[in-house]
This record gives sequence, structure tokens and C-alpha cells, in this order.
Amino acid sequence: MSTVQRIVVVGGGTAGWIAAASLARFLPPQRYAITLIESDEIGIVGVGEATIPQIRLLNAALGIDEYAFMRATQATYKLGIEFAGWGAQTSRYMHAFGAVGRPTGTVPFHHFWLRGQTLGEHAPLDAYAPNAQAGWANRFAKADPADLPYAFHFDASRYAGFLRSWAEPRGVTRVEGRIVAVGRDGETGDVTGVQLAGGDTVAGDLFIDCSGFRGLLIEGALQTGYDDWSHWLPCDRALAVPCAPVAKLTPYTRSTAHAAGWQWRIPLQHRTGNGHVYCSSQISDDEAAAVLLRNLDGEALADPRPIRFTTGRRRRFWNRNVVALGLAAGFLEPLESTSIHMVQSGIERVIKYLPNGPLRDADMAAYNTEAGFEWERVRDFIILHYHVNTRPEPFWQMCAAMPVPETLAAKLALFCANGRITRFNEELFAEIGWLQVMVGQGIMPQGYHPLADAPSDGEVRELLGLIRQVIARQVGALPDHAAFIAQHCPSGTC
Ligand SMILES: Cc1cc2nc3c(=O)[nH]c(=O)nc-3n(C[C@H](O)[C@H](O)[C@H](O)COP(=O)(O)OP(=O)(O)OC[C@H]3O[C@@H](n4cnc5c(N)ncnc54)[C@H](O)[C@@H]3O)c2cc1C
Repeated sequence: MSTVQRIVVVGGGTAGWIAAASLARFLPPQRYAITLIESDEIGIVGVGEATIPQIRLLNAALGIDEYAFMRATQATYKLGIEFAGWGAQTSRYMHAFGAVGRPTGTVPFHHFWLRGQTLGEHAPLDAYAPNAQAGWANRFAKADPADLPYAFHFDASRYAGFLRSWAEPRGVTRVEGRIVAVGRDGETGDVTGVQLAGGDTVAGDLFIDCSGFRGLLIEGALQTGYDDWSHWLPCDRALAVPCAPVAKLTPYTRSTAHAAGWQWRIPLQHRTGNGHVYCSSQISDDEAAAVLLRNLDGEALADPRPIRFTTGRRRRFWNRNVVALGLAAGFLEPLESTSIHMVQSGIERVIKYLPNGPLRDADMAAYNTEAGFEWERVRDFIILHYHVNTRPEPFWQMCAAMPVPETLAAKLALFCANGRITRFNEELFAEIGWLQVMVGQGIMPQGYHPLADAPSDGEVRELLGLIRQVIARQVGALPDHAAFIAQHCPSGTC
């Protein structure tokens, strides 16, 4: 096997351009040639508009100017996700980025919050979350007084183009063309090159398969196999539609549960992105479209676009000399906006395990173990949202009754008993994320940590009241989200 020098990225969607830009940023150009192949004829999936704060690390690594990026992609800020109708039909909570409460020096803050409940302090958990309070108030600023962790909503159809304009001047060679055949080495079985419709061949040593759902190399050529997770996550279709923007530019994504799935609402500067993710065995496509259109804030700007998927992952993300990223690697529904992040962490991992010479089985095995762990723990987090519910519809009752992965069952048992949450290894979602979703979905632990009993009743009340006051004061001093964008990064002012 030859030394890795020629890296070919197959696909120019969000995954392909994140991969190509990251490789161009970190690998020495005198040693590596990076080529990206994409087909204008096939196009990109064009959805994927909400992110998590880690995307700012990608921007920082690439040296991207945040306001320029926001103007180019019609972006808005995101402080968290509102979940409406999840858990119970009337419930409403925010999974906010950032802190809940304050460090107490002993046990996590929420144990004091749980003790407060026994003292008649019934303010909801999000009263202690600055991001949630700023979100509900439609306020945003990047620095003091609140210093809110944030991510973005952006127009997916513009994002890949934005990254392309960053990557091409930095050495990525773009090839336009439709791949019609994949060449394999007769002895090793490795991919040697891809053939384009016009007859040209692009050869490589390592291929990053970002070809979307079709998984052109990882599945089409290498037949890696797929672990189907739809027995835990039975939604298998989505309809996406943009609508006219709303008057209030909310700095959060909204996810509203419906009878057989849920609807996203992602506010951008020029329009609002919407989509209905649903289970096709429980609701017809026509009914799903009617539900979606009935629940838009503004006039629909197009017909709903159908997308089909099977939730799950490739059995191996790195197989021979092919690494799958993005939709080619698998699919987890966008409930917690994790897919773009997993492209980012995937390409970081490719760079981490890039061999100094030919590819090695040990590197691939370590890559696959790490990536598998990440995917499975995110899967558990998504299942949590479905499983813990008291909704009456058959779909939701089915989700409540289903057996869940052991890893999730263990997390639930730990929390239900004494409010404990443990984050293992490099799980993407920290304790604070699990806390907000478990409480938001309606779980109140039977007890709390005994150390939360150390302060007096009065001291606990004082602590809780003080935190609420400080947050209210800080949030009150923040500007309106739309005003902040209008001042710093309105689209159309590039
Ligand atoms: C309904 C839905 C909602 C989503 N929402 C979110 C979200 O809010 N947040 C989030 O993080 N993620 C979200 N995602 C996931 C996100 O859209 C994807 O992770 C992201 O867009 C990456 O897609 P991709 O680049 O892997 O695939 P694609 O965008 O499909 O790109 C595939 C590329 O491969 C090329 N290609 C394919 N076949 C060939 C061929 N034969 N020859 C040459 N080129 C070829 C295509 O031209 C294209 O350039 C969502 C996904 C879906 C389905």
C-alpha cells in the first residue's frame, strides 16, 4: 500500500467542504494533494441549518471571520433548542447551551435545585440557565455581561459554497463531474480511483466519502454494511419547507412534537426553515405535509420537499482506504443538530489517525472505536427525547414502551434514583445537557445528593434567589437579537 499523499474527497456538500477545508488548513501542502469531486447535476441535500457551539472551533481553526460568515449564509444566533409538546403534550422547555446555576464547590448545582423543590422553591430549571432566559426574551450579545455560549442557524444551501470559497484559494482542487465507476486494486481491494462520466479518472491513496445518503464508496464499492437503528428511532421521512420570516427573530431552534413525529423551525435572516420528521407507518405523507403547512409561522415559500432516511450507521466508518463522513457515514435525525458536528469531529479524527506512511489497521480500528462511541452516545441522547413521554398517541406510547439501549437505561436509572449524571469518556453531550432534557421531559429524581443538605434551608433559598436575580439583571441588559444582527452582520452587506 502506498504512502498517503493524494487525498480525494468525494462529494461537495457540507461534509465534503468541511473535510476539504480542514485538510487544507492542517496538512502541509508540499506533502499532500487534496482534490474534491462534486456533481452539479446531482447537487447537495440542502438541509442542515442548525448547529451546536463546537462549530465556532471550526471557524476559529479556519480563521473565518464570524460576521462575514453570518452575512454570507443569512445566519442568526442560536442559544439552544426549545422543545414544545415533548414529554407531556403541554410541556415546554429549553435545552440551552452553557451553564445551569453556579458552581457550588461541592456537588453540581442541580442537587440544590432539587432540594429547593422540597422547600417550595418551584422556579423551573431554566430560570437558572442564562441562555434559556436570554432565548425566551429574544435577546443576544456575544460578550459580557452574560457571556452566552452560542451556535448558529444558517442557510445550508449557501454554507458549502462559503467553505468552497475558503478552501479553493488554499490549495483544494475542485473537480466537477459525475462519478460513474469506482476502481479497486485487484489484490488489496483498496479503492484506487474514481471514474467520471467524461472518462477521466481521479486516483488517490485515501478517499473521504462525503457522497451523501448513497455512500458511493463506503457502501456502493466496499459494501461495508449498515446498522439499522430504526427500532429505537422509527421516524424515517422528512418534509422540508421554507416560509416567510417571522416578526421576532428568535435566537433558538424550536422543535414541536406532533402525533407521529416532530417539526423543526429554524429562523434565518431572510426566511424560516421548517421541516416535519415523521414515522411513515403512523401517518401518511399527505397528512404529514398538512401538519407541517398548518404549523408554519408565515407563508410557505415552496412546496414541501420529501427526504427519506434510515436511522443508523455504517458498520465501519473507516474501511480499507475509505473514510465515510456526513450522510455517507449514517443518519441521526436532526433533533439536537448533531450531524454537522459529527462531520467536524470525524475529520479531526482522520487527521489524528493519519499515518506517517501507508495506512495501518491499528489506526483504522482506533478511529472506528472512537467514532462508534460518539455515534452511539448521541443516538442514546436522541432516543431519550422519544422514550420519556406521557403523550397519548400510539406513536408516542410505542416509544415509551420500547426497550432502550443498555447504556441509556443505565443513565436513566442513575438519574432517577438520586439525580446523578455521569459523562463517560468523550461523550458529546455533557451532564448539563442530559439534565435539562431529562427534567424537561418530566423526570424528577427520587432524591438528591446528601451534600446538598449541608446548607440551611435559608441558605439554599438565598442561593437560588440570588442566581435568578443575577441572571434576570444580566439578560435585561442584553440587546434584542434582531437588533444585534442588524448592527453587526446583516445579510446583503458583504
Ligand atoms: C431532514 C434533514 C435535516 C437536517 N438538519 C440538520 C441540522 O439541523 N443540523 C445538522 O447538523 N445536520 C442536519 N442534517 C444533516 C446535514 O444535512 C448533513 O449532515 C449535511 O448536509 C452533510 O450532507 P453531506 O455533505 O453528507 O451530503 P450531501 O449534501 O447530499 O452531499 C453529497 C455530495 O456528493 C456528491 N455526489 C453524490 N453522488 C455523486 C456522484 N456519483 N458523482 C459525483 N458527486 C456525487 C453530490 O453532488 C454532493 O456534492 C439534516 C439532514 C436531514 C436529512
